[in-house]
Amino acid sequence: MVHFHREKYVPHGGPDGGDGGRGGDVILEVVPTLNTLVSFRYRTRYLANSGGKGGPNNMSGKSAPDLIIPVPPGTMVYDQDTGELLGDLIEPHQRLVICKGGRGGRGNQHFATSRNQAPRTAEKGEPGQEKYLRLELKLIADVGIIGVPNAGKSSLLAAVTRATPKIGDYPFTTLEPNLGVAQLDIDTTLVLADIPGLIEGAHTGIGLGTTFLRHIQRTRVLIHVLDGFSADPLADFTQINNELALFDPNLAKKPQIVAFNKMDQPEVQAKWSKIQKEMQNRGFEIIEISTVNRLNLDKILWRAVELLKQPPVEAEKPAEIPIYRAPVDPRAFTIEREENGWRVRGVAIERSAAMTYWEYEGSVRRFQKLMEHLGVEEQLRKAGIKEGETVYIAEYELEWVD
Ligand code: GDP
Ligand code: MG
Repeated sequence: MVHFHREKYVPHGGPDGGDGGRGGDVILEVVPTLNTLVSFRYRTRYLANSGGKGGPNNMSGKSAPDLIIPVPPGTMVYDQDTGELLGDLIEPHQRLVICKGGRGGRGNQHFATSRNQAPRTAEKGEPGQEKYLRLELKLIADVGIIGVPNAGKSSLLAAVTRATPKIGDYPFTTLEPNLGVAQLDIDTTLVLADIPGLIEGAHTGIGLGTTFLRHIQRTRVLIHVLDGFSADPLADFTQINNELALFDPNLAKKPQIVAFNKMDQPEVQAKWSKIQKEMQNRGFEIIEISTVNRLNLDKILWRAVELLKQPPVEAEKPAEIPIYRAPVDPRAFTIEREENGWRVRGVAIERSAAMTYWEYEGSVRRFQKLMEHLGVEEQLRKAGIKEGETVYIAEYELEWVD
């Protein structure tokens, strides 16, 4: 604001125009209960508010609140124009500042000098940033289903979600784990991954097994399915856990719920009490299930939900992605010939133009000083600019007068 102090009997009040407030930032924030990007189908443009105007009496304007846009965990954020990965949003409440609000313009109180005690000049607010983003959702499984081939991992996934994994003897058919979303009640969902190929690939040391194992690294709870038909389910259990520990010792520390499967079969039921005792002695919780007659399937999922609520064993840090940004010199500028004038481009010069009050001489003079200072004036002269030609800076058109 341009304003002068007014008081009875005080003839020449000093400048007291306050500053403008900051514009709000635009921020993405992970909301753990979301699991799709569908809201962006209906709304694609988000604008944080401007800061408040400065007032008389050196009163600063209010800063605008930040605009928070909720996104589901697993959202990858790319700059649409450059393709650059801006962030990988995983952790609940993790935030990513997309665009910074501009700072408020300064009121005329700041422009008083010994020669000019009554500056009729102020500054407009700094323009905010704008960006086009591309959002990609990477489904992150909460629960990994592990176990030996034929234990019933795919059957379990198919029984509790709408996923349609291949069931039966297909250890190598899929290279990606199958994912499914189980809806337990209106606001409880679990993302489960059927992770095949543990034994099949991992011990051979070739790619297949380790690709699958990487997916388990991001899950927080494991359901370990035991094949009730196996000659030695306990040996299977140990073998799988050894594979896990070999690949990554942290994996073996993830909470496991053991599911003793195929309890619809009498010969499996006959083994149950012995296996149960043995697992409990080893300190594992075990639940008997059947994917065929759905025995205890809800029970095991709710148990997983409980375990997920507990804080993770080791702090799971969001992936730190080193992002290289070519340094942009704000003072750099370019000059191009246009049909009826000259176009000047540059960060500092464009920002300054946007912050100038063209109706205030003092404000315009400050802008001219910057042109001179950055060397824009000199370059324009060298390029051969003539009296009366137009200089374009962002959306402004200025006439060149020597
Ligand atoms: P995966 O290799 O661990 O994914 O195992 P699958 O889900 O492909 O199942 C292997 C075999 O076990 C298939 O023939 C299934 O029909 C069978 N199976 C899975 N769950 C049960 C169950 O609860 N009871 C019985 N009787 N058979 C099951
Ligand atoms: Mg399978």
